[in-house]
Amino acid sequence: MTTHQTQAAATTDPLVAAIAARLPGVRLLGDSLDREGYRDDETPYLHAGLPRAVVFPTSTVDVVEIVRIASEMRVPIVPRGAGTGLSGGAAGIEGGLTVVFTAMDKIIEIDRENLVAVVQPGIINAKLKAAVAAEGLFYAPDPASFEMCSIGGNLGTNAGGLCCVKYGQTRDSVLSLEVVMADGSVIRTGGKNVKDVAGYSLTHLFVGSQGTLAITTEATLRLRPAPPPRSTMLAFFPTLDGAGDAVAGIAAAGLIPVTLELLDRFTIAAVDDMNNLGLDRTAAAMLMIESDMPGAAAADELERAEAACRVAGATDVVRAADAQEADWLRQARRAAHYALERLGDVRMEDVGVPRARVPDMLRAIEWIAAKHDVRIGTFGHAGDGNLHPDLVFERGDPNAEAKTEAVKKDLYRAALDLGGTVTGEHGIGMARRDWLEAQKGADAVRVMRSIKAALDPLGILNPGRVI
Ligand SMILES: Cc1cc2nc3c(=O)[nH]c(=O)nc-3n(C[C@H](O)[C@H](O)[C@H](O)COP(=O)(O)OP(=O)(O)OC[C@H]3O[C@@H](n4cnc5c(N)ncnc54)[C@H](O)[C@@H]3O)c2cc1C
Repeated sequence: MTTHQTQAAATTDPLVAAIAARLPGVRLLGDSLDREGYRDDETPYLHAGLPRAVVFPTSTVDVVEIVRIASEMRVPIVPRGAGTGLSGGAAGIEGGLTVVFTAMDKIIEIDRENLVAVVQPGIINAKLKAAVAAEGLFYAPDPASFEMCSIGGNLGTNAGGLCCVKYGQTRDSVLSLEVVMADGSVIRTGGKNVKDVAGYSLTHLFVGSQGTLAITTEATLRLRPAPPPRSTMLAFFPTLDGAGDAVAGIAAAGLIPVTLELLDRFTIAAVDDMNNLGLDRTAAAMLMIESDMPGAAAADELERAEAACRVAGATDVVRAADAQEADWLRQARRAAHYALERLGDVRMEDVGVPRARVPDMLRAIEWIAAKHDVRIGTFGHAGDGNLHPDLVFERGDPNAEAKTEAVKKDLYRAALDLGGTVTGEHGIGMARRDWLEAQKGADAVRVMRSIKAALDPLGILNPGRVI
């Protein structure tokens, strides 16, 4: 028995004892103080449970054994990457077993000829990006949390981010997965083939399933040749409507910039306070638009985007002076959530609407904030129609929970009425389960339930999440 298992195995918990006996050498936490750190993801307000044990597999073989033990003992399993999720998908289940993938974080292969990377799920997104960039290649999926979140978590949530408008969500960059099923069998859903239509697309089924259908132990990811450095532009608008119209106008002009992000007035001020960028704080909204086209094509794309912004009423349009300044601006946008967190307790939402309905959704958010007297900072991936209204409460506000529920109800209703979604990229998880049927319909949810029952008849894989 290894030292780090000693304390865990000293307990009389049969689950802990079985893991310690059958997986000697694997890190295992049984002490309640240690387990506390795995109760929450980035949604502590969802009041998750305390895991009964936390285990850190180092191989697929370990994961198979863990699933077998959990299945024999009927213990729910919560797969967990970096725990940065915003829907409670990796949050603890009382009495459950949390399986953390930080020790399975290798890049197994970067295959230049086939433009793929084969990785373990615990690798951090930014580390993978950096490793492939060193080879002149590009891994596109780019959540704002990319320096913290893992590829396993990105696959679990089908993560989006700042360049989906051009390169799609995580699902669009996955060729194949190795997964451990609830019965302990291991399957590969594909290979390095770019085209493969043999049978059902299990890859697409598992991506975004938040650990409820299978556990990912390896992924074959699509790479691209590295695009040129980005050219970056900021456009400021006197009204939120104007910014929304510009987003619709840019899409209507047939432009697909690599980044098309929006910040409202409240968020501009918070970001500026944190980063001292000298942003125009009088503006009602700002768009950040980037091009990664080569040479003159980038200048042309930004000029056409600027024209669409001017038509929509932009008062000021500025370009980043150089790559360094562009990086600062991008970092500042990525940190928008943390800038708002400096002002109070924040609950981040994640609604999405068809691009042309962004102005309507922005108007609805303003109306909802006024109706419930809640401060809402809105930012997000406007080019995808995906907005993050952040509800900001005074710290310790006893009414925060009740108000959040009331605001969520109106936000989700508004998004659905506009033909949208209650979650663009964070997932249903625990946070939005009540709304899945309202969006997808009873029959679609019945089909989802039958898939879940067929693949996980004992219901041990992340129960109570998604459906
Ligand atoms: C400041 C901030 C900014 C963010 N920006 C974005 C953004 O721009 N776009 C975006 O999409 N998200 C964003 N997020 C949310 C979060 O970072 C993503 O959802 C990310 O994909 C989660 O990765 P993780 O490694 O932290 O996964 P976790 O939170 O640990 O897990 C996420 C889900 O994946 C499942 N899972 C994890 N590993 C496995 C595995 N090996 N097998 C099966 N299931 C697994 C978990 O059970 C859970 O359901 C942001 C979060 C923060 C805090």
